[in-house]
Formats: sequence, C-alpha cells, structure tokens
Amino acid sequence: MTTNLLDFDLDSLAAFCDGLGEKRFRAVQLFRWIHQRGAREFDQMSDLAKSLREKLKACASVQPLTVISEHQSSDGTVKWLFDVGSGNAVEAVFIPEDDRGTLCVSSQAGCAVGCRFCSTGHQGFSRNLTTGEILAQLWFAEHALRQRFQSSDRVISNVVMMGMGEPLQNYSALVPALRVMLDDHAYGLSRRRVTVSTSGVVPMMDRLAIDCPVALAVSLHAPTDALRDNLVPLNRKYPIDELMDACNRYLEHAPRDFITFEYCMLADVNDQPEHALQLVNLVKRHARSGVWCKFNLIPFNPFPVSGLYRSAAQQVADFASILSTAGIVTTVRKTRGDDIDAACGQLAGEVQDRTRVAERMAKRRTIAIQPVVQSRKEA
Ligand code: SAH
Ligand code: SF4
Repeated sequence: MTTNLLDFDLDSLAAFCDGLGEKRFRAVQLFRWIHQRGAREFDQMSDLAKSLREKLKACASVQPLTVISEHQSSDGTVKWLFDVGSGNAVEAVFIPEDDRGTLCVSSQAGCAVGCRFCSTGHQGFSRNLTTGEILAQLWFAEHALRQRFQSSDRVISNVVMMGMGEPLQNYSALVPALRVMLDDHAYGLSRRRVTVSTSGVVPMMDRLAIDCPVALAVSLHAPTDALRDNLVPLNRKYPIDELMDACNRYLEHAPRDFITFEYCMLADVNDQPEHALQLVNLVKRHARSGVWCKFNLIPFNPFPVSGLYRSAAQQVADFASILSTAGIVTTVRKTRGDDIDAACGQLAGEVQDRTRVAERMAKRRTIAIQPVVQSRKEA
C-alpha cells in the first residue's frame, strides 16, 4: 500500500516530505502539481528532481475514486457517483450558475442522523470518508470540468459540504480537506466560498469555529423542539436553544459573517404561518447583533418512502414573506438537477447500512408526524 497524497493538507505533506529528506518547498511544488494541475503521475511533475520522483513512486500515489456513473441535467448540473469500496458509493454534484460554479461534496457513505425528509438518511450509515476521499471528489470534478470546458482557469468557485453525510460527524477527516480547499497552493477558495452544512452537532461547531471558520449553514427545519425532534433526531441531543447559542459562539470567530438556516418546506408539517412567526421569535430571542442569520427555504424534494410532500409554491412564498417582513433576509432555493435526482436531499448513492438506521427509520415512519392541518390525502 502506498500513501495517498490526497489525504494530506500542506503541513502534513511537508511532514511527509521531511520524512523523505525533502525540504518544504518541494512539498509545495508537489501539492501544486496535484491540486492545481490535476497531475497524478510523478513523471509529469517536471520540476521535481528525478531522485524525488523515484522516491515518491516507491511509496506514494494520488488515489482518485472510480467513477461509476455520470449524469448531466438539462440545466447543466452534473452528478457523479463514485465507488468507495465494499459496495458503497457516494455522490457529488456540480451546479453551474452565471457567476459561480458550486460543487456539492459528500462527507460520509450514508448518514447516521436519519432525518425524516432526507434520502441519504433513509439509506442508513456505512462509514466516514477519508480526507483523500472527500478531496478526490473536488480534485476529479475540477480537473474533469476544466478539460471539458477547455479552461485553464478554475471552474469550481464554491464548495458546499451538502452531499451525503453529516460533515461534523466526520470532523477529523473534514478539517484537513477544508484546509486544502482554502490553500492558495491548492484550490485557493476564500473562507466564505466554502460552506459546511450541519444538522447541528454543537460541540463540533465550537471546534470548527477555532480550527477552520468557514461559512456555516445549519439545517433547522423546525421552530420548536417538539417538531424538530421528529424531523432531525439529533435535536434530542442538541435542542434548538443550545444550537442557537452555538451559532452565536461561531459568529464570534467568523466576524462579519452570518449563519444560513436551511429550512426544508414540508407540506402541512412545518410550512404554516404560525411556524414562520415562531421562527421570527426564535431569531429575535437569540439575536446578539443586527443581521446574524438568513434563511434559505428549500422546496422539499420528495422521494417515495418519505411519506412527505412538497409545500405549494404559494405557501413557500407566504412563509418567505412573513420572515422578510420581520427583517430576516430570506431566499428560496432554486431546485437544480431535478431530472437526474441531483437536487438537495436526493443523493442516495449506494450504502451498505451497518447501523440499522434504515430499520429504525422504517419503524419511525409508522409514527406519523402530527399534521397541523388536515393532511393532503384527507383534504
Ligand atoms: N448533513 C448535513 C449536510 C447534508 S444535507 C445537513 O443536514 O445539513 C444538505 C441539505 O439538504 C440540508 O439542509 C438538508 O436538510 C437538506 N435536505 C435533505 N433532504 C432533503 C430533501 N429531500 N429535500 C430538500 N432538502 C433536503
Ligand atoms: Fe444526514 Fe443531513 Fe440527511 Fe439529516 S439531512 S440525514 S444530517 S445528510
């Protein structure tokens, strides 16, 4: 087995090179070849001494993930399914827009949090990805897209950790990967163009604030603990007030930033005017400064076993208007890649469930969420 150089941030690569008797600037050259130029053959790296190339060939490699499939949507969105071994596969999605190119990256094969409305959650959990596997998604996508668009410039301008998995439950692999994304010798993305999305792993939010305070999105989805306990089971461990306090602590380390609250709009479950008003109260109660958060309403992307429905467009618009009128910056997410199942929460990959999350989920499905109004079926 050779050492996978995609597992290293620059400091670790420098330590690895030091072990080979090489100076730090050699590590910088190597790092740039791999991440900026997409090279994986050491013989391509023409400015590295032949002796170093030989040493590297003997003990190191750049290990990409095998692409199982690629789908391109009519709107330009591209989804890749990557093999991560033992019957597991994860997905990454590229979303082109006029002013940016965003890559949505997976952090785990499956997810143990088990949110009701999330297709990944329904798959169960298999394992954490390594730093190299997280970065291999970006490394591959960036260089494949550059070739496709015949671009020598960067194609991916933003990364969101919103693919499969809960990134803050894979903290030790996540942080070096984030560092590589930010490193000027690699992808050179600014702190605000890399977003970690979390269902609310409070202690790890505190650590991220210190280790690598990138943009933070928090998947809120409900204004009260009673409802959130049901939709996002992690809420039972870290209830909303604790989560809000953690958001405020995070902002102390990320000045001039705001938290983005994601809110998946589920018909008759969390999309009523009273929920919007409860959110306004929540935000006001926890405000330590003026604009400290914004809301991103995500139209639910349905999948059959969820038993949940997408809110009507008018319902979403009314909900957004209540928040906006109260002074909360609110956007409604455009769904992209719908025709290739690449939209938020649709990433299912292939997961060998080792935790029986899926089984527990099936049991929970039988306990219906108390609808606040008559459910659609009855109406
Ligand atoms: N585990 C992290 C990041 C991955 S999920 C988290 O939960 O934040 C990325 C976003 O997609 C989250 O806000 C999640 O709540 C949302 N999402 C999950 N399933 C969805 C669905 N079916 N429709 C719309 N959004 C969904
Ligand atoms: Fe996991 Fe996020 Fe899906 Fe919840 S929404 S199950 S935390 S991936």
